[in-house]
Amino acid sequence: MKNNHPFVVGITGGIGSGKSTAAKFFEKLGIPVYNSDTRAKLIQNENSEVKAKIIAAFGEEAYDENGLNKAYLSKQVFQDNEKLKVLNSIVHPAVFKDFEDWKTAQKADIIMKEAAILIESGSYKDCDVVISVIVDIEKRIARTIKRDNLTREEILSRINHQISDEERIAKSDFIIDNNGDLAHLKSEVEQTFIKIKKRV
Ligand code: ATP
Repeated sequence: MKNNHPFVVGITGGIGSGKSTAAKFFEKLGIPVYNSDTRAKLIQNENSEVKAKIIAAFGEEAYDENGLNKAYLSKQVFQDNEKLKVLNSIVHPAVFKDFEDWKTAQKADIIMKEAAILIESGSYKDCDVVISVIVDIEKRIARTIKRDNLTREEILSRINHQISDEERIAKSDFIIDNNGDLAHLKSEVEQTFIKIKKRV
């Protein structure tokens, strides 16, 4: 074991690539997983400091009776890169701190941080190794259509707003190919786990 304890594995991938599914397989192998997207949603709904900053920047409409008004906020930041930067500057530091607190509480030697924007947010730099889950674009679209109530055009638009797989691969230590079935993904995870253990 090196000085970096616990050993942090970052996992990322584009929309519908299967990073959550892969992370669940890692979890079954005993690796605690921090899901950045789920935690970010929770923080935006429950952290009063974060809520106040979002309201100050985006107005009262940012929240409704159900909590964060994602439709309103997405529309704002989707059309305006500066607004996206403002939102990120509120949410990212809070998630970063939340992850650090979670990490401190973990007893396992290897832990995992799952994030759709692991590379874009720069948080890949705090990981000891990075995994990208890669799938052909048509499969990602088909799987996402099956999962979410989104059109092909909406999915393509999201893909075009994310970094490319080439950019992800350039920053990754390991690639998991998820073009096969779930049994194939499980086996890819198991093989990657063996390689990770050699790096710890
Ligand atoms: P997002 O960033 O969009 O939340 P994700 O990368 O976390 O997506 P998942 O939710 O894990 O992706 O997978 C997308 C969908 O594809 C899910 O419905 C999942 O069950 C399905 N899926 C994942 N891997 C496979 C596979 N190998 N075969 C068939 N379906 C799969």
